[in-house]
Amino acid sequence: MNNRAFYLETFGCQMNVVDSERIVDLLGHIGYHQVDEPAQAGLILLNTCAVRDKAVRKAYGHLGRFKPLKDRDPTLILGMGGCIAQQEGKQLLEEFPYLDLVFGTHNVHRLPELVQQVAEQRVRCEETDFLDRETRLQLFPARSGQDAFTRFVTVMQGCDNFCSYCVVPLVRGREISRPSAEILAEIRELALQGVREVTLIGQNVNSYGTKEAGELSFAALLEEVNAIDGIDRIRFTTSHPKDLSDALIECFGRLEKLCKHLHLPVQCGSNDILRAMNRGYTRERYLAIVKRLHEVCPEIRLSSDIIVGFPGESEVDFAATMSLLEEVRYAEIYSFIYSPRRGTGAAEIVDATPAEVKQERFDRMLALQQEISRQTWEADVATVQDVLVEGESKMGAGQLFGRSTWNRIVNFSGPAELSGTLAQVKIVRAYRNSLLGELV
Ligand code: SAH
Ligand code: SF4
Repeated sequence: MNNRAFYLETFGCQMNVVDSERIVDLLGHIGYHQVDEPAQAGLILLNTCAVRDKAVRKAYGHLGRFKPLKDRDPTLILGMGGCIAQQEGKQLLEEFPYLDLVFGTHNVHRLPELVQQVAEQRVRCEETDFLDRETRLQLFPARSGQDAFTRFVTVMQGCDNFCSYCVVPLVRGREISRPSAEILAEIRELALQGVREVTLIGQNVNSYGTKEAGELSFAALLEEVNAIDGIDRIRFTTSHPKDLSDALIECFGRLEKLCKHLHLPVQCGSNDILRAMNRGYTRERYLAIVKRLHEVCPEIRLSSDIIVGFPGESEVDFAATMSLLEEVRYAEIYSFIYSPRRGTGAAEIVDATPAEVKQERFDRMLALQQEISRQTWEADVATVQDVLVEGESKMGAGQLFGRSTWNRIVNFSGPAELSGTLAQVKIVRAYRNSLLGELV
């Protein structure tokens, strides 16, 4: 009998988080249980991200750290899944002789069989074939219960946008939308289990349903979720500006459970670069959307992703990004220095900008945004906010934490029974990563 403890590390976006929850479920069905210490495990899995070179190097670094464990115990099974596995496939087995198992983004459901094969036959295996649409539609599973008041619910998978810098369409495959009836049934079930907040996830949720005959639009889906008893809050991510319909914008004024926060990645503020990125909108169109969002919902706060140093970005292009940040005043941004990805269009463009110039632009942008973010958060002080209490915080007994509608973490003291309810909390201090409050 081999060691049925497994250790799982997850990198990257919400898609991987959900896939990892699925992995935990599936391995549970074949008698495996999760442990926090790799040294105790008979099976170690890495669910990886390939979106930037940094993420890839990090995953390889972690894999290397497990090699001594494998040297000590050759029965230990080491596996890699997710986006690096999908892109590199068999190559990984050649490169890392101590790796036993490689599984792609469409093959998570096959993991129990693959693990058993490796354990029983001592073979190394790789499975990274993309599946056809019909098979994938059958494979959207509801994950089993977890003790949480907030959950991710997958509404679509894959991406057809092919932004020129992005590897996601290559490693996640074509876009498919899960049937709305299935999504709604899952959310009703989650509500019965005590879940209060759902985040609908997909690479581009705004195009939900547009490629399936007779399917609801994303705005209509939100309306249905809004009507589910027991669910108090709805969020969704990620939104592509080009597919943000008027009906969806209006949801922010109409649906009382929809949080007043939208992650709407702009990537950059220059029309020339937006075109080279194949984003499908202009700066002017983006700003018009932002204006409309504020008209419909004056309290809405936005966050964004920004890429600095896309090939060909001039100082003028970069200044356009800076002025856009000043104009929109995002509550938060997630910013990245461009990282060339094999197989993408932008990887073919000659990139003459020196790394130091990119770094200097990046630092300048961060300084500007930090000041804007700080001002946004400071504005919360002395206000009373609805906080969905997620449970006791790490700070000790009697200390609770939750999130505001703007998705900021709020810490405050109160009785544990408040967990899972919407509490009224007065904000007394704003920090960079959280707010401190007092129960009203
Ligand atoms: N589907 C989502 C998330 C894509 S990946 C979306 O469209 O918004 C998350 C973010 O990583 C992107 O928004 C982009 O800002 C960044 N990113 C993607 N590819 C990148 C690359 N090659 N270099 C640097 N940043 C990248
Ligand atoms: Fe990547 Fe663009 Fe698709 Fe987002 S929309 S996953 S950035 S290709």
